[in-house]
Amino acid sequence: MSFITARQRRRLELLVNDIPLPKIWFNPQTSAPFQQCSQCGNPINADTEHLIEKVIENRHEVHAYALCMPCVQQFQSQLSIGSRQTVRDWFEAHTRMGARINALATREKRDPEAWIDACICSGVPSAELDAYHLLAHARGARLITGAMPYLISGACMTALQEILSEDTREANRRFLEQHLGSPPQRAKVAAKAALLV
Ligand SMILES: [Zn+2]
Repeated sequence: MSFITARQRRRLELLVNDIPLPKIWFNPQTSAPFQQCSQCGNPINADTEHLIEKVIENRHEVHAYALCMPCVQQFQSQLSIGSRQTVRDWFEAHTRMGARINALATREKRDPEAWIDACICSGVPSAELDAYHLLAHARGARLITGAMPYLISGACMTALQEILSEDTREANRRFLEQHLGSPPQRAKVAAKAALLV
């Protein structure tokens, strides 16, 4: 969220805005946009800003959740400033966010599906990935464009996880224990919450 500059965000908002949330971000249990925060249970209304993450393994959605911004901020507050800076630095070094936003902002056809056709970090097409994460920022049932939406491969998430400090890993573990399913799934998505930094 802080991976792009205010100027880049304004440019995107001018050129690419008011996009209905694509079905790929819907709640798999209801086949509709998430209606409540997966953590606190508060309703997601038309003006509720929130994040959505899905974890895809072998073409199957193994996890999907939505978090309202107060819950995102609560999670962030558990992390040290140093850890948050580490993640920002990693994104800056491993993604070309500025070039990506310029390309998206000039795309004639507003197709958010095309924004997640490859890993934001490695550039590997999603069709060639066994595991990946999808992240989106939304208000109600509309996409908010910015650093999100994006796709990041499982391999790149693992690389990110490896550079995180122990306090961040611990915060991730606590978050995952509260919110995710069976241990095998947890093991595979262990780095997910780092992206909320
Ligand atoms: Zn919440």
